[in-house]
Amino acid sequence: MTATASASLERELRKLIGEDAVLPGTTRAYLSDATESRNLKGRADAIALPKDADQVAETVQWCYAHDVPIIPRGGGSGFTGGCVPLDGGLVLSLERINKMRHLDPGLWRAAADAGMITADLRRRARENGLFYPPDPGSAEQSQLGGNIATNAGGPHAFKYGVNGAWITGLEVVLAPGELVRLGGPIRKDVAGYDLKSLLIGSEGTLGIVTAAWVKLIPAPEATLPLAAFYEDTETGCAAIESTFASGVIPAALEYLDAGAIAATRGAFPTDVPDEARFMVIADADGSTDEAARIHAELEDTLGEGALLIHAPTNTRDINSLWRWRDGASQGVTAQRGGKVSEDIVVPVDRLQEAIEKTVEIGHRHDLETCSWGHAGDGNLHSTFMIDPDDPQELHRAEEAAHELFALAVELKGSISGEHGVGLVKNGQLARQWEPKAIAMHEAIKQAFDPKGLLNPGKKLARTKANDD
Ligand SMILES: Cc1cc2nc3c(=O)[nH]c(=O)nc-3n(C[C@H](O)[C@H](O)[C@H](O)COP(=O)(O)OP(=O)(O)OC[C@H]3O[C@@H](n4cnc5c(N)ncnc54)[C@H](O)[C@@H]3O)c2cc1C
Repeated sequence: MTATASASLERELRKLIGEDAVLPGTTRAYLSDATESRNLKGRADAIALPKDADQVAETVQWCYAHDVPIIPRGGGSGFTGGCVPLDGGLVLSLERINKMRHLDPGLWRAAADAGMITADLRRRARENGLFYPPDPGSAEQSQLGGNIATNAGGPHAFKYGVNGAWITGLEVVLAPGELVRLGGPIRKDVAGYDLKSLLIGSEGTLGIVTAAWVKLIPAPEATLPLAAFYEDTETGCAAIESTFASGVIPAALEYLDAGAIAATRGAFPTDVPDEARFMVIADADGSTDEAARIHAELEDTLGEGALLIHAPTNTRDINSLWRWRDGASQGVTAQRGGKVSEDIVVPVDRLQEAIEKTVEIGHRHDLETCSWGHAGDGNLHSTFMIDPDDPQELHRAEEAAHELFALAVELKGSISGEHGVGLVKNGQLARQWEPKAIAMHEAIKQAFDPKGLLNPGKKLARTKANDD
């Protein structure tokens, strides 16, 4: 769009949704996400901040009628460039649509606007004795709508599942600008094709989520984590598999490899053994007795071959451990100022191989490399640390990331366990899906968004490069 066309877009939208609800497209805070440290920045023609779901529908209607691309934006914490405007269009931010609509503690359910911050939703549930399990490390920044759009996970997805498992209803704006409700405050619904599930994880390419009904559960009375250190990946991964075999169900089962420990050990709440090259964090939850029993069993199983176990018992120390874990991603970024990190997932019995091969790939490309992630789900955050101002290093890291995707497929896994495709994994689905599945993926996009205006250029199963 020319500067004049952008100015006219701003003017028209101001008339539609209010003077204070439109910002110039150059407003930097809306042009990037957590991939900024790999130098991904976009360009928009305008930014819209609608105040309610009806305004979202009116905005989409106007854009659809005038062929303006719409890029939905939640908290901007995504790791795939999903909310980054590639080549102009309207960034539609949900940040002002952020209220709790209903909270029914006695019925274990709530309905919240899409722009509600994840941690606020979790806090509101907690204040009422309830628990909303999805816990991405970005909980203070990410929004309910963004979590739904990416079907985000988090450490406790091991026991409780990813975001979609907690959504019973969606309010969503579909092209060409209609507000539609799917499901609701109901715990089961098998009536039609599962449109709600199609929208969950669709990364803003099929519709714009404006609100959701979520399931809650009574909050666990106690949570007791522990961190076990090992001298190598093999011993640590054997301990993870023993945990499965023991039949005990941890709420979370996380790992850090040697490089991730090295990058974050300074901030760990206690001393880390010098010889530690692998770490497992497990969480036990339930009633006080149940959490204590699971914790004791985990201590036994994970104690096998461990150098040391750190098992905090008071709330302050427990919170310190999780704060440190939530900060691991930023700790790794801080090493070189940037990172290229991919969330491949493999069968849990291939985890050791995936961790070791991640390091081999990094070495081949002369990159500092590490991984950490959700061990129980076989979900790695395979990471190449880079200086974002060094284009050659960035290029090598992008090449290395392609090898990671090939590795995921070779190990019978998937190119994304929780962050999605966005921009950075465009075309990679073609590695793991049959042509028919790719054709269905494209047909679904066409059915929801015939003009291709909803988050264009994102979540593409294949690209021109695949066909060449
Ligand atoms: C420190 C850190 C830790 C993280 N930890 C985890 C983790 O443990 N697990 C995990 O899964 N992810 C994690 N992430 C990634 C990220 O936080 C999640 O993907 C999160 O769900 C994105 O939410 P958001 O609101 O920030 O979405 P955004 O980044 O704003 O957008 C993400 C995608 O969703 C679309 N979108 C946003 N809102 C809507 C809406 N209302 N309707 C339709 N489409 C929409 C956007 O267009 C984009 O495609 C982490 C990120 C950081 C920075």
